[in-house]
Amino acid sequence: MTKQYFPTPITWELANQKKSTVRKNIIVGVLALQGDFLEHIQTLERLGITAKQVKLPEDLENIQGLIMPGGESTTMANLLDTFGLREPLAQKIQEGMPVWGTCAGMILLAKKLIQERPIPLGVMDITVNRNAFGRQLDSFEVDLTIKYLDKPLHATFIRAPLVTEVGKDVEILSKLEDGTIVAVKQNNMLGTSFHPELTSDTRFHEYFLSLIQK
Ligand code: GLN
Repeated sequence: MTKQYFPTPITWELANQKKSTVRKNIIVGVLALQGDFLEHIQTLERLGITAKQVKLPEDLENIQGLIMPGGESTTMANLLDTFGLREPLAQKIQEGMPVWGTCAGMILLAKKLIQERPIPLGVMDITVNRNAFGRQLDSFEVDLTIKYLDKPLHATFIRAPLVTEVGKDVEILSKLEDGTIVAVKQNNMLGTSFHPELTSDTRFHEYFLSLIQK
């Protein structure tokens, strides 16, 4: 049976109440090589969390969790190699550091991609199809029901990847109406096809923080 990490659902009230608490002792890294890392940093700061930009292997020290933002996964993967981050990052994640990949970030966490490029970190037991919604549906928004959140979250999809297969240890947190998997969890790892950092709704960030504070 799947272990439940956050037994009470994250509500607006809880997210707002936490917003006024300063939690500077919690340091969350945000991979800052490319993509929308600033939006994640702003959201974390609004939640009273210290956000730290991660660009080099030494930046992985003294962080309690890491967010890998959306952007362009091939560019991000190239920069991971250029800055020597690939191995130390994969190792930290395998040692249990909580990590959350949004969109391109989730692509990089995957064990397998339908496409040949980029070469992902290969830490999460999922298969991902990049740009899976095709040109017509390049970008769209939808109210998504997500496990552990009290009410649907208004989710933004931008040239989004989708999860085509999951391993037995992966918990599915959300699907579109047609059954497409768009949010997953495996132990300390979270992946979402969409971008909660682009809205004012901080509940998914709170959910990620609950994995750190566990
Ligand atoms: N399509 C992008 C990629 O394959 C991901 C898009 C995003 O992060 N919004 O890297």
